[in-house]
Amino acid sequence: MTRPAPTITDDNRGFWEAAHDGRLVSQQCSGCGQLRHPPRPMCPYCHSIEHELVELAGTGTVYSYAILHHPQHPAFSYPVIAVLVDLDEGVRLLSNLVGVEPGDVHIDMPVRVTFDETEAGMAVPVFEPMGSST
Ligand SMILES: [Zn+2]
Repeated sequence: MTRPAPTITDDNRGFWEAAHDGRLVSQQCSGCGQLRHPPRPMCPYCHSIEHELVELAGTGTVYSYAILHHPQHPAFSYPVIAVLVDLDEGVRLLSNLVGVEPGDVHIDMPVRVTFDETEAGMAVPVFEPMGSST
């Protein structure tokens, strides 16, 4: 069983289409240049509604994490590592950490993006320790 597909909205469509293509992107405000995530219609800094999507390197460090045991969904194998990643460009992303034992995760761990397939042929960005090869 694969992960449930992401729910597509007018705001996040570009993010998920990029993920489908194996690219991690962020909204960048056309008014003030700030990056923001998750995708939303208005800049929280200058209130501009104009933005573009810019590609990110997909590398960062673990800001925080939690080891999830319950409640369980049949599409995931447990425990699931929920992680907040501070990307090198300054965007913080909520995701999963894969390819590492829960006991080996630590704050500031260098990670890089990879993509997990979902239902409906979509993909979701997840992270793995830098230097691993999944
Ligand atoms: Zn702005």
